[in-house]
Amino acid sequence: MAYSRHLLGIEGLNPVSVTSLLDLAASYVLLNRSGKTQRDALRGRTLVNLFFEDSTRTRTSFELAGKRLGADVINMSVATSSVTKGETLLDTAATLNAMNCDLLVVRHNRSGAPALLAQKVDAAVINAGDGTHEHPTQALLDALTIRRHKGRISGLIVAICGDVAHSRVARSNILLLTMMGNFVRLVGPPTLIPAGIEGLGVTVFHDMAAGLSGADIVMALRLQKERMSAGLVPSAREFFNFYGLDRAKLSHAAPDALVMHPGPMNRGVEIDSDIADDPVRSVIREQVEMGVAVRMAVLESLAKGNNR
Ligand code: ASP
Repeated sequence: MAYSRHLLGIEGLNPVSVTSLLDLAASYVLLNRSGKTQRDALRGRTLVNLFFEDSTRTRTSFELAGKRLGADVINMSVATSSVTKGETLLDTAATLNAMNCDLLVVRHNRSGAPALLAQKVDAAVINAGDGTHEHPTQALLDALTIRRHKGRISGLIVAICGDVAHSRVARSNILLLTMMGNFVRLVGPPTLIPAGIEGLGVTVFHDMAAGLSGADIVMALRLQKERMSAGLVPSAREFFNFYGLDRAKLSHAAPDALVMHPGPMNRGVEIDSDIADDPVRSVIREQVEMGVAVRMAVLESLAKGNNR
């Protein structure tokens, strides 16, 4: 497979490597549903989850993925507040090298931290979300979810809505979905859409009715208050009125449009519970299931390429 030693972002993948990762992940969906495991794939390998930022689904998803493939999994949580970034990262890298870890899953609130670690450790590094930069396994699991429902991952109109500016999920999805030949629209207030983002091949809308018109996929993003300086959004209530995904706004999308959200959701802010829990339109829970399968595929592909 055309695949580098690390997975630092969707940047660095190509349509062939994305497709083969999705194909491998699809086989793991079937395996997981059958209740079987494949504990030989990563037997004897050590996977370290190094999370400098809180996470529920991503960390547990990588943990489960590693265990289902037979790896020894170690979770290291580091409180962001106690971290002096540069020093700690380099110290951590030295420690991990001494432990002979094979796969290192990193989440950090600074963009570029996983790339820095990748230069210093012997392990294959997987970016599990860095600042506002990338979250590649989220985009891959979103792509797998879309492909399962639409039968393809090209030629679709995908509306990504809300807080694009602070979202690494949006960035990885933009890169993956445009690379695979989809029509990506970003819908949100001017304060939450980075200037010049059209350069990535997307179309920007500030009105939900126009942005969602005929969309095959509607992806709501979490309003990331923890990354926001004051004043970008007047109030959660006003944001919901204009940009919260509810049934009235969704009616502008294609009749069979899928609703997605990377989680965690702010119900009543970027998405209405009525839509989030709609068993026909919402695939939000399935995204979580696809996450485990995609992470199994990524771990196995990198471990195979990691011939130390
Ligand atoms: N869980 C995703 C992330 O870590 C999305 C979010 O936090 O809103 O980027």
